Amino acid sequence: MSNTQSVMFVTKRPDIEMVSGQGSWLVDNHGKRYLDFLQGWAVNCLGHSDPGMLAALNAQASKVINPSPAFYNQPMIELADLLTKHSCFDKVFFANSGAEANEGAIKLARKWGRMHKDSAFQIITFDHSFHGRTLATMSASGKPGWDTMFAPQVNGFPKADLNDIASVERLINDKTVAVMLEPVQGEGGVIPASKEFMQQLRALTKAHNVLLIVDEVQSGCGRTGELFAYQLSGIEPDIMTLGKGIGGGVPLAALLSTDAVAVFEPGDQGGTYCGNPLMTAVGVNVIGQITAPGFLDDVKAKGQYLREQLLKLSDKHHLDGERGEGLLRALQLGSDMGNELVERARTMGPNGLLINAPRPNLLRFMPALNVTRAEIDQMISMLDEVMTVEIASRKQAVPA
Ligand code: PMP
Repeated sequence: MSNTQSVMFVTKRPDIEMVSGQGSWLVDNHGKRYLDFLQGWAVNCLGHSDPGMLAALNAQASKVINPSPAFYNQPMIELADLLTKHSCFDKVFFANSGAEANEGAIKLARKWGRMHKDSAFQIITFDHSFHGRTLATMSASGKPGWDTMFAPQVNGFPKADLNDIASVERLINDKTVAVMLEPVQGEGGVIPASKEFMQQLRALTKAHNVLLIVDEVQSGCGRTGELFAYQLSGIEPDIMTLGKGIGGGVPLAALLSTDAVAVFEPGDQGGTYCGNPLMTAVGVNVIGQITAPGFLDDVKAKGQYLREQLLKLSDKHHLDGERGEGLLRALQLGSDMGNELVERARTMGPNGLLINAPRPNLLRFMPALNVTRAEIDQMISMLDEVMTVEIASRKQAVPA
């Protein structure tokens, strides 16, 4: 083990280093293998070291890495074409992280408001939402405790309740420029916005001349079985943000909008690395694979299969069922044993299992979109094993 003391503490990390990966498997510095049902929080949508992605990365690296943000490059144009062809949006701005794309969305909505809505600036967001860790995106997020952590917050993000249209109606007024939501709340606990709620939101925002922004950093790029999760409800938002899966593991994100809303002028948004061809070439390959015929049908079928297996596990251990969309799913544990299960799963042998618990009573699963049914079966059997041990140890701990 090398000295980890000089690495800034960004999250609670176990004392291991990940050294290599292939598909659904990661290997640590002791040679232990882990079945990865987290995939870096849904980032590696095609698993680790996908051959197509690697070929695209290497081919572009040998041509040019970052000629200049001041010029167009071919992969940037190709990716923007792909994204607009498969969505209801007309314009794409590239970014390097989900938070940065969301900052862009907030700025774009505010600028549009300044031009078209008598300087309206408020963006209604939702309790338990997660939009990133920059100051504005933390202020937009509904994560408990974040309202005071780095106070004062960026102003203008009143919070409504997901799936409760009356709570949005109460907040919407002539200062409102947009409503922003995750079509499936990820960090908040894998909570899908209902189809009905998405449709009601679209009607309400249209009636008030207010923009609808979908943050698809976690739910986008095939995760739910549709290319974008907003497509599950048949609506057309004004702005969408993408991150994570779009780069299949490399730092790439995007902000998309309709022509009517694309009010940025040169200099308003961008940065040194935005749209660089090394990342966008990978994005072209990733989105190309996800939109290949049959790929998304397969994600839907495997999502359904994972759902059925999780429900069987829930029945067996008397848990509270499961929820989610496609291959973004959660098992409702019915008691606060999530963190213990995550730890037991990682440390079990001979192979470990990587999952996480966004809430203590919930386990989240975000496997590679090309995960196999055999890998799903293996995950379920590993989870069954740790659950049996954890539940037995809890029974022992309770005096008769
Ligand atoms: N939005 C959503 C919905 C997310 O899940 C995340 C990351 N968990 C972000 C934004 C922030 O993305 P990044 O970490 O790339 O800044």
